[in-house]
Amino acid sequence: SAVRSVTVLGATGSIGDSTMDLLRGARDRYRVEALTANSNVEALAKLAREFGARFAAIADPTKLSALKDALAGTRTECGAGESAIIEAAARPADWVMAAVSGAAGLKPALAAVDRGASVALANKECLVCAGDFFMERAAKAGACILPADSEHNALFQALASGDRAELVRVIITASGGPFRTWAPADIEQATLEQALKHPNWSMGQKITIDSASMMNKGLEVIEASYLFALTPDEIDVLVHPQSIIHGMVEFSDRSVMAQLGAPDMRIPIAHCLGWPDRIVGPSARLDLAKIGQLTFEAPDFARFPGLRLAYEALRTGKGATTVYNAANEVAVAAFIAGKIKFGAIARLVEATMNDWIRTGNRAPLVSADDAISVDHVARNKAAALLPQIAL
Ligand code: NDP
Ligand code: MG
Repeated sequence: SAVRSVTVLGATGSIGDSTMDLLRGARDRYRVEALTANSNVEALAKLAREFGARFAAIADPTKLSALKDALAGTRTECGAGESAIIEAAARPADWVMAAVSGAAGLKPALAAVDRGASVALANKECLVCAGDFFMERAAKAGACILPADSEHNALFQALASGDRAELVRVIITASGGPFRTWAPADIEQATLEQALKHPNWSMGQKITIDSASMMNKGLEVIEASYLFALTPDEIDVLVHPQSIIHGMVEFSDRSVMAQLGAPDMRIPIAHCLGWPDRIVGPSARLDLAKIGQLTFEAPDFARFPGLRLAYEALRTGKGATTVYNAANEVAVAAFIAGKIKFGAIARLVEATMNDWIRTGNRAPLVSADDAISVDHVARNKAAALLPQIAL
């Protein structure tokens, strides 16, 4: 089959690393168009050299000369600044991995969507931030959105087994994170080190903290709603500490289709990379006899208020999910910086959302600029509320 051109946005991150690993194993099928990073010049240049990328972009504008030096003697063109990341996404590649972390990934993802590329979407924050119009815009441009997040990839695969009209509900699983069995008072005081110890998945820092607070599952409920046009009532969360079943779809005849796999992001990414075909994934195979037991429990909304807030944001709509995401990004950064306790993350999100519901001039978001402006307002509000929440 023909060689496909691919671009990886956020190539130096955890998802980027898994993606490059799969590409490394299938050199004859893929050619790298563009790679991007935020500030890690060394890792970006190394990958650009290894894969002979045509374009390498670094978001930090002060790093352009360092990037050029590191790529001297190669044919890789270099760019820097946010515009260069967008340019990387806009360059002609058949397939784009959107794996920048945070709302910063929105404009680059839209640049790939607008030219009708196949976009493997790892960056859930951009969908949560711009959910009102993201999928519509993809449909208009003829872009194919392939969910790379493991739960949504599972739903995408399970949905293929039935008629969308007969769907009753979807279920996304959650490991429950490191604090699943902790007393609320201990969760309140949890340290950064404790929050970064995820039981199953190895991921970037922000999403690992989101997993500990279950804000990640909240973001994923919102992500599922926008990706598959589901109401909040059609989306259930099920705690499944082994992280083997990632998502399930229930149809009207009560058949429930599930997707299983080891907790390894290369599996859903391989599905996105190969789609509509299948490619060879990681070598380790799922050994259920060895795992022995798969267990399930209902999520504890009282212990993990971030999950409850996600449903509230979804029911409120019109930018509320943008506020939820923005306030969470501010809260996580403050927690990492030691400014707030772990338990204050959800409190800051709730206070920011409540303030916005009380005072906000709410309307459906229709453009990236709309989403980014609500995002900025929410960030400022969250920053302003931070001192009183920190007490
Ligand atoms: P990482 O923090 O590991 O990597 C983030 C990547 O984005 C890096 O390449 C980083 O560059 C780059 N980046 C960060 N900020 C900016 C910016 N402002 N402008 C341009 N580039 C930037 O994150 P993950 O790989 O863990 O996550 C990426 C996305 O995928 C997130 O949205 C996350 O929610 C989602 N996701 C991740 C999963 C996982 O298993 N890790 C699972 C499911 C979804 P640099 O290296 O230079 O800092
Ligand atoms: Mg996930």
